[in-house]
Amino acid sequence: MHDEGACVACGGSLRFFGRRIGYAYHECLRCNSLQLVPQPTPEELEAAYRTEYVKSGHLRSAAEEAIGAAQPYYKALLAALRAHGMPSSVLEVGAGWGGLGELLVSRGVDYRGVDLAVDMVAHCKTKGLAVELGDLFSVQGETRDALMMSAVFEHIVGHDAWLDHARTLLNPGGLFVSMQPTARFARFMGQAARMGIRTLELPQLHEVFCPPWHTVLFSLEGMTRLMARHGFRLLDVRPGPQGIGRGLPGMAKRTLGLINKAGWPLLGTVWPFVICHIFVFRKEA
Ligand SMILES: [Zn+2]
Repeated sequence: MHDEGACVACGGSLRFFGRRIGYAYHECLRCNSLQLVPQPTPEELEAAYRTEYVKSGHLRSAAEEAIGAAQPYYKALLAALRAHGMPSSVLEVGAGWGGLGELLVSRGVDYRGVDLAVDMVAHCKTKGLAVELGDLFSVQGETRDALMMSAVFEHIVGHDAWLDHARTLLNPGGLFVSMQPTARFARFMGQAARMGIRTLELPQLHEVFCPPWHTVLFSLEGMTRLMARHGFRLLDVRPGPQGIGRGLPGMAKRTLGLINKAGWPLLGTVWPFVICHIFVFRKEA
């Protein structure tokens, strides 16, 4: 059982960071990851997904429009995959509208996906994608070369059990590829928007402070420590592309995109203006 007073990622001590719509985010004093305290239970989240997810502003109504807008993310994920050897089989957790699945299938990858949203699964099936209703635990007794997720890992609870199961679904040396919002930008925005006053409400940014959905915003160090505990070695971490028109106004994001092109090579992982990162881990023996 996870100790509520300890960091999900590294077991370090936690300190209150800020509140948003009645939920409290804490920061780890060792690895700087941000996390909801207490973590929502799986039952709470499942109930909330069923009733509120579509209304939360998290999804777009038009599937193909959403896929079009997400192309930069898919391309960045594919580039991360290719850099470590294109896998022949992939399981995607959180297949969404099937945009990444389509790209993978077009490149000859044996693709399977799961998603919790009925309308998304139905849409995937109309496109002939092997996507079933469910989550990671719905998949049992088969292994793949890579496990992929895009804007999913920040949503999960019970990380230790989740990662133990994820391991059983990967072939030896298999890749774990995740794109997710990370802690540095969240901490920066959370502090700057409140002028450092922690009693003020955290800013509304869908990709960052989005309770109860976003349970943990891992720092790079926190993610690396968590994964190492479960037998995964970090191969690669790179900035994700800036999205458009979600959470931050499009103009602000395009500006961030331009700044990042200049800032990333100079400052590497210390650069704060990256909302999300792409992690690539390898399953160790
Ligand atoms: Zn920590």
